[in-house]
Amino acid sequence: MTTILETRSLCYSYGDGTQALRDVCISLEQGRKVALVGPNGAGKSTLMLMFNGILRPSNGEVIFRGRPMSYDAASLRSIRRTVGMVFQNSDDQLFAPTVFQDVAFGPTNLGYSAEKVSRYVGFALQYVGLSGYERRPPHHLSGGEKKRVAIAGILAMEPEVMILDEPTSNLDPASSEEIMEMLDELNSGGKTLIISTHDVDLAYRWADEVILMKEGSVARRGTGQEVFGDSRLVKDARLKLPLLVELYQELTGRGIAQRSAPPRNILELCDLLQPKAETETLGRIYICNVDGAEEKQISAVLERISVSFKGAMGTSAKSLAERCGISMDFTYGVIDKCILKALLGKNCIILTSGGMVDHIMKRIKAYGQESGRRIEATCLCHGTEKLK
Ligand code: ADP
Repeated sequence: MTTILETRSLCYSYGDGTQALRDVCISLEQGRKVALVGPNGAGKSTLMLMFNGILRPSNGEVIFRGRPMSYDAASLRSIRRTVGMVFQNSDDQLFAPTVFQDVAFGPTNLGYSAEKVSRYVGFALQYVGLSGYERRPPHHLSGGEKKRVAIAGILAMEPEVMILDEPTSNLDPASSEEIMEMLDELNSGGKTLIISTHDVDLAYRWADEVILMKEGSVARRGTGQEVFGDSRLVKDARLKLPLLVELYQELTGRGIAQRSAPPRNILELCDLLQPKAETETLGRIYICNVDGAEEKQISAVLERISVSFKGAMGTSAKSLAERCGISMDFTYGVIDKCILKALLGKNCIILTSGGMVDHIMKRIKAYGQESGRRIEATCLCHGTEKLK
């Protein structure tokens, strides 16, 4: 694993003397999903602002790809392109009169030609599912749409690392899940993601690594199971336990379930409560890559294959399903929901873009290895139905 961001003895005090960071030493690996958790005032936002050079350390240093960060104008421009920051409140980030101008702001400032800016903006808006919104004023959009525009503005600069301060705050559950799913897709494409959140359930199930901050310092870092497995630490940090951890503690306390570590998701919880039976008929999961597919090809695939449940992952698959007039049973948490249905013997199909196919395959395979329940996954290349 390659270290992408590192802090050494990082300290920061605001102008009024408030010491927001005290001797923070962490290193973050490339391609990881990292969640910063902690109570209000723990220093999460300050640390994030350090990562892309908006704040400059009072002491210590921030290191990006092995090189200490410099704070001259050219270095800052470069770091802000490579380490993109999405603010908690989208209204702090969106200021241009139209969505296009907002997303174009970064690439224009990088000196790209008008043609290149237009291409990058088009790509970014398509990625976040907002093609066609170019001329709309950002302040007329919904909270979820504003967040997508803010993400598109960062994506248009092709960052390596994306930092999102409380990405789901003030969003309804469906918008939150869609944003988190988009972050998963970006992560599958190789981007390193760092979020801060108060939502312990979200941090627990989403992050590869959780960093718990308290009073300007790192109190603990590790997997969600490691960090949230320490009830006292969590309580001291004025957080609550993720529901799955609390449930697991109750179940093991009552002797209903036994396991070395709490379940990370509903799938693992179900396995904990209902161990593998001798004979089980499992359903199959079809994964359909919709890249370049036309509506009629997708409709033809769905007519030919008998499935009980359909899911769509990623904005292009969801909008294609909508254009085909196919109603989707699952639009978030799709892989695990399909695995749960396959465990009940039902066949499912997941429509997705090519970049996600391997990610889905890996998740299904990993589940099979962990649980001993091998679910067949078949990859379909839209029109040709070629088996992978
Ligand atoms: P978190 O994101 O974990 O809520 P912050 O990084 O926002 O924490 O805040 C860390 C500490 O710095 C808190 O004590 C907060 O009051 C203080 N702080 C944050 N921003 C400012 C500011 N602009 N001026 C003075 N103090 C600040």
